[in-house]
Amino acid sequence: MLSETQVQQGNSLDVLGERNLFCCSLDRRSFLKCAVASGAALGLSEAAHPAAGIPSQAGQQKQDDSQFTVEAKFYQKLQNRKIKCKLCPRECTVGDRERGYCGVRENRGGTYYTLVHSRVCAAHVDPVEKKPLFHYLPGSLAFSLATAGCNVNCKFCQNWDISQSRPEQIPADYVPPQRVVELAKQYGCPTIAYTYSEPVIFSEFLMDVADAGHQAGLRSVVVSNGYMQEEALKAAYGKMDAVKIDLKAFSESYYSKVVTGQLKPVLDSLVTLKKMGKWTEIVYLVVPTLNDSDSEFRGLAQWVKTNLGVDVPLHFTQFHPEYLLKNMPVTPVPTLERAKAIADAEGLHYVYIGNVPGHPAQNTYCPQCKSLLVERVGFTASQMLIRKDSCPFCHHPIPGVWHT
Ligand code: SF4
Repeated sequence: MLSETQVQQGNSLDVLGERNLFCCSLDRRSFLKCAVASGAALGLSEAAHPAAGIPSQAGQQKQDDSQFTVEAKFYQKLQNRKIKCKLCPRECTVGDRERGYCGVRENRGGTYYTLVHSRVCAAHVDPVEKKPLFHYLPGSLAFSLATAGCNVNCKFCQNWDISQSRPEQIPADYVPPQRVVELAKQYGCPTIAYTYSEPVIFSEFLMDVADAGHQAGLRSVVVSNGYMQEEALKAAYGKMDAVKIDLKAFSESYYSKVVTGQLKPVLDSLVTLKKMGKWTEIVYLVVPTLNDSDSEFRGLAQWVKTNLGVDVPLHFTQFHPEYLLKNMPVTPVPTLERAKAIADAEGLHYVYIGNVPGHPAQNTYCPQCKSLLVERVGFTASQMLIRKDSCPFCHHPIPGVWHT
């Protein structure tokens, strides 16, 4: 278990105990080893901890899931007890006693339910830089949580153990919104982050936690694929204080083959977030040979400039072999530097390189006088010079959420 001091130096604190996922760092064997261990959940009250009710593995034990089952918000009732889900662009049509593609929403007698409200399978205290959000309260901590499930199936997913699982297949704790708020405060986090799997599919829980958090003076941020319908996006992410969108590529063919999704709805979500005035940062995971051409980088940068403006941070991050792309190499640093050079040349002001510790492109520089403003070492902001939302040297405004 890590100390708070270690957390502030850039690591993560696993709040639910060692049986939970260590934020992207476990392989499948290690994850399952942790997942079947039944250790007590740090920070959760005895009454709330549902160890007795949670099966260690799917199908081995009948689970009472009533405490996690809440009527879904975004769906339409059809004839013959069918429903159409309106949460994400898949628009699953779901018959009675069936689930949609994401596996966490179920039709019971013509009413659609989420099965993952308050069903937390991972909770950690992370530096906000780990999301990554670079223009949002540098050096602060985010109480980060996830449920099972996802509405796409990225072949490179680092958290596939939880994102591609049904709720019954992984251990979870009952952590209702008010308890999330208490834990965030207990661990000194000004922000609650919805992350690791895909928050789109636990929107109802996210909305309730965000409301409880705001009432207690805590902010909320989401790390999402943005593959969501507009009405749901406005309702759920309208409650967020910042958003990070994983833009997986800039081609429909990649989204179809590697993500099992579509690019267009994600671009639409980014434009909607811009219109909503949400602070948004974009991460683009560069996978060698699959989404790393000059033309794709240039097309992406031009689209961002035209549709979102030059001040949206764009993070080009390094791919590491995972899940179904274990045969691919790590992204060479020169490829990331080429992507940044192209985006810089197109006029974007804040282009970062991620997952390469110590690279100077992890820092924030003033786009006008080029002074170093935020220095980052790993996931830690070691120096923060922005004052009054501006460069202290030339007074150029630096967009972001810089102060609590
Ligand atoms: S959220 Fe799930 S059930 Fe709803 S449309 Fe998307 S994949 Fe289907």
